Amino acid sequence: MNELHARHRRVLPDWLALYYDDPLEITHGEGRHVWDAEGNKYLDFFGGILTTMTAHALPEVTKAVSEQAGRINHSSTLYLNRPMVDLAERIAHVSGIPDARVFFTTSGTEANDTALLLATTHRRSNTVLAMRNSYHGRSFSAVGITGNRGWSPTSLSPLQTLYVHGGVRGRGPFADLGDAEFVEACVADLKDLLGHTRAPAALIAEPIQGVGGFTSPPDGLYAAFREVLDAHGILWIADEVQTGWGRTGEHFWGWQAHGRSGPPDIVTFAKGIGNGMSIGGVIARSEIMNCLDANSISTFGGTQVTMAAGLANLSYLLEHDLQGNARRVGGLLIERLRAVAAQDPGVREVRGRGLMIGVELTKPGTDLADPDRAAAVLEAARADGLLIGKGGGHDTSALRVAPPLSLTVAEAEEGAAILEGALRSTQ
Ligand code: PMP
Repeated sequence: MNELHARHRRVLPDWLALYYDDPLEITHGEGRHVWDAEGNKYLDFFGGILTTMTAHALPEVTKAVSEQAGRINHSSTLYLNRPMVDLAERIAHVSGIPDARVFFTTSGTEANDTALLLATTHRRSNTVLAMRNSYHGRSFSAVGITGNRGWSPTSLSPLQTLYVHGGVRGRGPFADLGDAEFVEACVADLKDLLGHTRAPAALIAEPIQGVGGFTSPPDGLYAAFREVLDAHGILWIADEVQTGWGRTGEHFWGWQAHGRSGPPDIVTFAKGIGNGMSIGGVIARSEIMNCLDANSISTFGGTQVTMAAGLANLSYLLEHDLQGNARRVGGLLIERLRAVAAQDPGVREVRGRGLMIGVELTKPGTDLADPDRAAAVLEAARADGLLIGKGGGHDTSALRVAPPLSLTVAEAEEGAAILEGALRSTQ
């Protein structure tokens, strides 16, 4: 154990999850690459979903941040804040939500907390529907709606949460159903739940589950849910913390794959929009956003420096059509990984959209998750200069690929070749 790892272990909580037997200290990055403290270079196929949506050390963002930091970074909400208004207008415009209002937070957790505050106040109910296997953050209320037990350390929730089927097919009775039958079964499950409960405030769902392993619910699942929810006046909160901003290629928002019935009532976002600066937020129709009847402020949500980063990053994303890039380069990468998987009996599924790709590993010839191999593939890929992630339900058996959205075709090829080698060496 190196000196930093030992100090980390002594002073930080045991429950902070660290990747790798010999954890990595990343010291700098550029484009789609990062370097560790020993000078090793890695192609980063995971940082795109964490913080670096577009590219590491993107000059446009660095310049905007340093210029703004040299001017002012004052209280976010007590005084007029031009970068905040500018970014809110742009986000309202791309949100698809009519009469949208935007509130900025510093994280996805806090964004979901705020969404819950709005929905429960608006509906006068503290019952919430959430998806099995979901992840929504680490605060008291966010863990209370997180269905993924590995990330939900307490059952003492301030909310009454009911979990719905649909985000992941899992290995139970829903596993072998075709898309249409699966949607039908999930809708029946939702209706059944609603028959036995006080009116819930909202359903919160990730259009594709992120921590849960980049799952792939059938298109239209949430539109089918929506019809049922609308009949009861229940709000739909889409947690777009991982799926937003064009990552899924075909769509700008993850919900659009389910969007027959229009945009969600509330959308939450975070992670990469600041390209490393801490921005989260909530978008909702003004009628919902304005249902609170006491004052609120935020000291750090929406500071000028983070807003400057968000503006520069969003401009870069739109001007360079990174959504189109995610569709094209992600499409090639998925194809390439499917070809590798066809030769590997331990790969159950390669799923994904755009640059959000999951590779589910099972023990060959069985339906059993293979978390040991997932960990081994991560180590082998790292040894060959590629960083990927992992996730899943009860077992962490899905590899997660989510590079910065500016990934080039050559980098996609290079990463796929390393991943192929890592899969081969762990068979
Ligand atoms: N929602 C989703 C879907 C997430 O993936 C995450 C982070 N993994 C969060 C919320 C929480 O975001 P943060 O870590 O910024 O609090």
